[in-house]
Formats: sequence, structure tokens, C-alpha cells
Amino acid sequence: MADCLFCSIVAEEIPADIVLSNDDVVAFRDIAPQAPVHVLVVPRDHHANVGELASAAPATTATLLQAAQEVAADEGVGDAYRVVFNTGAGAGQTVFHVHAHVIGGRNLEWPPG
Ligand code: 5GP
Ligand code: ZN
Repeated sequence: MADCLFCSIVAEEIPADIVLSNDDVVAFRDIAPQAPVHVLVVPRDHHANVGELASAAPATTATLLQAAQEVAADEGVGDAYRVVFNTGAGAGQTVFHVHAHVIGGRNLEWPPG
């Protein structure tokens, strides 16, 4: 999709610190990490948010969640991490290409802010 930051990262037009890549998803470190581990997992295809992804491509949704687990394990936080999908500007979504935040490596409080 034109003018989509994460489509540009997937296409390797914009550099990113990629930690996992397969036919369906790409995972890369967040540019402004909120925890010692903060990786974004995105589908290669453009979907605006997780609900739209789940409706349009359920198999890719499962692959994305498997990748999140793999990233957490590879980063050494497989026993304590959080997966966050901000959905909508009011919930903090700023990039409208669905992405799972995989966050860990520090105490994660509940409820989230
Ligand atoms: P959102 O606020 O949409 O849930 O999350 C977007 C995330 O993308 C933010 O955590 C932000 O730091 C990250 N981000 C924004 N621009 C870039 C970039 O150019 N490269 C990387 N790696 N992350 C980015
Ligand atoms: Zn996109």
C-alpha cells in the first residue's frame, strides 16, 4: 500500500532491525522501545488492524501469533511477555498496518496505561 510505513519496511525500502521473517510475517525492533524487549510483528500484506486481519486472513493471524511466541522465546522472555494490538487512534494506534507489539524484559503492570 502506498505511503504505509510498515509496507515500506516489509519491502525493505526503509531499514529496520529484523529479527524474524517468513513468507507471511516480518518482525523487527520498535524504533522507540518501551521495554528491554519491544518487537513489532506485522503481516507482509496490508491490513489496517487486527480485526480486519482476522476477518480477511485467519491463517496469517495464527502465523503472526506463532511468530510473536517465537520472538518472545528467542529474546529470552518466553515465560513473561505481553502481546498488544492497539486498535484505533483512541487506543494509541499510530501506524495503520496491523502490528503486534511483543513487549517484555521488565515488570509489566496491570491494568495497562
Ligand atoms: P502503534 O502506536 O501504532 O500501536 O505502534 C506503532 C509503533 O511503531 C510505535 O511503537 C513506534 O515506536 C513504532 N515505529 C514508528 N515508526 C517506526 C519506524 O520507522 N521503525 C520502527 N522500527 N518502528 C517504528
Ligand atoms: Zn501497510
